[in-house]
Amino acid sequence: MLNANDRLVYHGREMNRRCKAALAQAEDDLGYELTIFQGGFRPVTSFSGSTHTGGGVVDLSAWHWQEKSRALFDAGFVPFHRTEADGDWEEHIHCVLAGDPTLAASSAAQVESWKNGRSGLVSNGPFKGVRYVKFSKNFHTFDWPQKPKKVPLGPGERVHTIISRTHSHEEPDFDSEPVNLLTRGKEKTFKAKIRHGDIHWFQTEEGNWVANTKTRPGRGLPKRDSTD
Ligand SMILES: [Zn+2]
Repeated sequence: MLNANDRLVYHGREMNRRCKAALAQAEDDLGYELTIFQGGFRPVTSFSGSTHTGGGVVDLSAWHWQEKSRALFDAGFVPFHRTEADGDWEEHIHCVLAGDPTLAASSAAQVESWKNGRSGLVSNGPFKGVRYVKFSKNFHTFDWPQKPKKVPLGPGERVHTIISRTHSHEEPDFDSEPVNLLTRGKEKTFKAKIRHGDIHWFQTEEGNWVANTKTRPGRGLPKRDSTD
């Protein structure tokens, strides 16, 4: 029988089956393969301490880290963006699979640190990664700073192509539920946007919302209607 805690090797690094599945989901979402610097079941090291001794933890290359962070959150990881200023390492994304029962106690503590808005480092600084709300009731960490304002789209912004498989959601807030699965490559017409921090959301004609990191402008400019 397959077990989610089974140890295996994925992209040359050790992890458990659950962690591999979560990475594969993020890769499917992003549309490219992730480069893994370090997996789990590692010895204690000077730079990672004991955080990589368990199963649900990986270090990824920092390239594209903001977009990756969103895909990683969606897959259940807490992605910590580590820069060279943060420690004796190269820039990378330290990813902890929240709730994985094989996590080292020190990595499970990093998830708790993130829930409190902290970095998970010994210095206990603020979390500096992407402010992103996971659409799950388990991850009520960040509050929306203010009620978002709906802004109409310019004509060139209306038609977007979905760049990765994603859901559209109810009005984005902590209790938003996915309501519609959108497939990659599909064209959608949006009618408004809101902004939370550095995340824009586009409103579909049905009144749902899609993070615009999951879309890009369509090729043809749509027809303008008389109210523009
Ligand atoms: Zn790490």
